[in-house]
Amino acid sequence: MEIKITDFVGKGSSLLFSFPLYTKIKFDLEVESRDEIEVLDYNEEFGPTILNHTEYIEGMDFRFLKTIFLKEHNIYSYCPECKRDNYIVSNGLEAILDNDTDDILTIGTNISSAEENEAHEQYALEKLQSRAKEFFEKVFGETNTIQLKFHCTSKHKHKMYVIFHLTEDGYLIKTGQYPSIMDFEKFKNLDEIFGKDNVSKKDFRTATILKTHNYGVAAFLYLRRIFERLIILKAQTAISEGLLREEDFEKKKMQEKVKQLHELGKIPDYLNENKTFIYGILSKGLHQLTEKDCLANYEPLKEAILIILKENSDLEKREKIKKETSKKLNSIHTEMKSK
Ligand SMILES: [Zn+2]
Repeated sequence: MEIKITDFVGKGSSLLFSFPLYTKIKFDLEVESRDEIEVLDYNEEFGPTILNHTEYIEGMDFRFLKTIFLKEHNIYSYCPECKRDNYIVSNGLEAILDNDTDDILTIGTNISSAEENEAHEQYALEKLQSRAKEFFEKVFGETNTIQLKFHCTSKHKHKMYVIFHLTEDGYLIKTGQYPSIMDFEKFKNLDEIFGKDNVSKKDFRTATILKTHNYGVAAFLYLRRIFERLIILKAQTAISEGLLREEDFEKKKMQEKVKQLHELGKIPDYLNENKTFIYGILSKGLHQLTEKDCLANYEPLKEAILIILKENSDLEKREKIKKETSKKLNSIHTEMKSK
């Protein structure tokens, strides 16, 4: 399945900084239409006099391309140099286009036949194509390439850039970026996250490398393995607490195991909020997984894993503090007694 430019609506920072290089992104030049009603006047006898305007506008894909390449950006995202989330800004290129950012191509009023509509659509499409031609020529230039520059808003103003290329067959691809995709992976300190679990730590590193090199399905499978390992760990706790019977649990499919553990309060709410796709993707076999599904679900599953791990380590810390506190209290108690 193809990756579409509109898959990134609302996820601009992922397109800019985490999406793999050299992966074709499809966009279509299509015309959309929307109806606007204008009331000219109103009288008691005949009611309102109305004009039905049909606005033919640039399609979603082209509007989103304009947003990415022309608008100023102010993205709340991770800065690899600051090593924390920060506002990242860019300077847009808005001034380079003659036509303004208006998305209307043409307007028809009181259209009464399919032919009339078709004629308007045809005219709008031609106009869109010439706008797009101008856009690509001016933004991407002779080399069909553009470099977008960003900097973080800390006092150091760390610089970042992303390079996009327009292929001969009309796709958008990212051909370079700085800092690297790996640098934008927030969680560098894997020791802190995974503790002594070397197997998961290694799997996580492999998943990250595979993902940044565009092996979506393979990366996802590594991530899924870590997740399944965590689920088994959670189940063992529940079994030792007498909340689960091992024989019953083992018969279940992974997706049902997750569901049951959540009902027992053993799995954070984050998973519940995202359960539709997480359950869905957990039950799919290797051959049913598409690159697109895997890339789209990678981040949420990673997030789920990190949340569970964080929760586990918080729990361990709390238990440790509890033990230490009761030890201290005991020794105070003993001291007081001996006085
Ligand atoms: Zn920074």
